[in-house]
Amino acid sequence: MTILCYHAIDTAWSSPLAVRPDAFAAHCAWLAAHRRLVDLEEAVERMGASGRLPRRTVAVTFDDGFASLYDEALRVLRDHDVPATVFLVSGTLSSEPQSVDWVDTPVPDTLRTLTADQIAAMRSQGIRFGSHSHTHRDLTSLTDQECLADLTTSRGILEDLLEEPVRMLAYPRGLHDERVRRLAARAGFTHAFALPERREQAGPYSIPRVGIYRGNGVRTVQVKVSPWYLSVRTGRLAPVLGSIRGPGRNGRADHRGDGPGAGRFGARHTARFG
Ligand SMILES: [Zn+2]
Repeated sequence: MTILCYHAIDTAWSSPLAVRPDAFAAHCAWLAAHRRLVDLEEAVERMGASGRLPRRTVAVTFDDGFASLYDEALRVLRDHDVPATVFLVSGTLSSEPQSVDWVDTPVPDTLRTLTADQIAAMRSQGIRFGSHSHTHRDLTSLTDQECLADLTTSRGILEDLLEEPVRMLAYPRGLHDERVRRLAARAGFTHAFALPERREQAGPYSIPRVGIYRGNGVRTVQVKVSPWYLSVRTGRLAPVLGSIRGPGRNGRADHRGDGPGAGRFGARHTARFG
């Protein structure tokens, strides 16, 4: 099984995070025809103790809670009967909402995050929601107290809004370590999702996902949902494939995220996004 991670579905925002609506519709049509699409809850229920998931099934998630999910993605998800979970930055829902200050690329004035009304409308159509932290900071850079406060605040705000338990967390930028995983459990989450680029021990608090970015066509999605994709991407072959394809655009050793230039094997490293 593969858990996909999208961000925005947006024509106007020329960010790697913003998949074009027509491309997204093509992805969903292909996935609906060729894979068993499952709800994230079902995915984690079926996940073994090792963190491995059944083959040929796909779950779809979205990080950051951009308003384009309501404007563009919802209709497509409904048309193809694709279950989806959206991870919200709860700070964007507080009385003085946080602006989108966590992405690396310029943000257009028109970029919005989901409102409480839009979230309610999406829920009534079967979309589920989880936490993507309160402030979208790198949790590994926070003190224990800051990290726990961020995660607890996020879960509290979202549980008040949704009036149901919120047990799923997607780490901002997928970043986590042993300490963050322990604090996620203490904050009351039962499962947490990453975006690994290197080999990571999979488990309930480090469930791997695969990022889909602007420019990824159906063939790239096909590759990214292949059973071997994550192990090749995060395994010993990844640096070899990466070096064949040249350095990432920022040349840093620790850059993360399989961006739109990721190529057929997604092994070319580019900057880590959202
Ligand atoms: Zn994010």
